[in-house]
Amino acid sequence: MSSHWKNVRADFPILHQQVNGKPLVYLDNAATAQKPRAVIDALVRYYERDNSNVHRGLHALSMRATDAYEGARARIAKFIHAADPAEIIFTRGTTESINIVARSFGARLKPGDVILATEMEHHSNLVPWQQAARASGATLRYVPVLGADAEGGLDLAALGTLLTPQVKVFAFTHVSNTLGGINPVAELCARARAAGAVSVIDAAQSIGHGPFDVRAIGADFVAFSGHKMCGPTGIGVLYGRRALLDTLPPDETGGGMVTSVDYEGARWKPAPERFEAGTPHIAGAIGLAAACDYLDGLGREEIARHDNALAALAYEKLSALPGIRLLGPKGARSGLVSFAFAEVHAHDIVTFADEDGLALRGGHHCNQPLMRKLGLTGTTRASFYVYNTAEEIDVLVASLRRILKFFGAS
Ligand SMILES: *Cc1c(COP(=O)(O)O)cnc(C)c1O
Repeated sequence: MSSHWKNVRADFPILHQQVNGKPLVYLDNAATAQKPRAVIDALVRYYERDNSNVHRGLHALSMRATDAYEGARARIAKFIHAADPAEIIFTRGTTESINIVARSFGARLKPGDVILATEMEHHSNLVPWQQAARASGATLRYVPVLGADAEGGLDLAALGTLLTPQVKVFAFTHVSNTLGGINPVAELCARARAAGAVSVIDAAQSIGHGPFDVRAIGADFVAFSGHKMCGPTGIGVLYGRRALLDTLPPDETGGGMVTSVDYEGARWKPAPERFEAGTPHIAGAIGLAAACDYLDGLGREEIARHDNALAALAYEKLSALPGIRLLGPKGARSGLVSFAFAEVHAHDIVTFADEDGLALRGGHHCNQPLMRKLGLTGTTRASFYVYNTAEEIDVLVASLRRILKFFGAS
């Protein structure tokens, strides 16, 4: 590992505090990640020195802000190996990115068309497609998950019958935020393309946790959030293949996205401006670029190795707890584990673990249909990132033992 890793924890000011008299153990990274000093400094620097509106100004601050904002777009293009910065549209996050595709591409759909999603989608990659189906008369179908604990991942064998010529869009997550499994996105994109469908990847749980190459994957659209990859909240990205983006109508309209307007109508700029009406989150984009620098400094392969190794270790140690039900694949997984006990509700576990300084997440994780299918009301999830350690997994396991004893479940 590179020398950057030596002081990783020192890079994150928030980690150095006590919660309920215990050192904070932050294992809620799948909900949001902490921010390194470099990202916080980039935000402060922008507001202290360069703050101005972008694109329409001719004065020094506006030109600086524009350069920094467009520089951030180019930096993020590089981060995901996009061919062209114009393929990077800044949004509020994964949710808004998927809504834009679902409305804008969805406007093309008609009765008889099929939208294909999977049973493991986050509500953000599910409800917008339900809405698109309702608005267009298209049908929404799902690729099933396999196994009582969804340990078998997606039923890829079912794709043969599901990916008919009627399928116009195939939307799927790269990594499930509840199961931790890693879907074979390059294969899924190739299958979509062969069927004549456009692919949409929800990369919220993957992009900050390892290498990601949109061209090698062959994706048409990719959605992700800044805040899950050490960047600020309120900023995210919709990547779209250039040739596709310029054929789509805008979603929101207003200032900044038009070439000319008269009282009768307006003409749209090409992407990315076409999809960025109004003043964008300039500071957020700059902070997100700083997060890309930070993560590349650590090394994306190294981040994947680190996070996945911690999750594998947690999975192994948690397996020893009486009555535990672990979800998702038994083998290779990304940096999170999700589990349930018949006797103790996930909300109680999270509340009691907080007494031990632990930040966990319990509930349906925006996967209600999947929870229902698996016969669960929710799970407890521990999710790992660059600053987590093997010692923190011991704190987790000890805390769970204490809680199980308290509830008379061990
Ligand atoms: C967090 C998450 C989302 C939603 O991201 P937002 O930042 O809340 O828009 C969507 N999909 C997955 C898999 C997620 O983990």
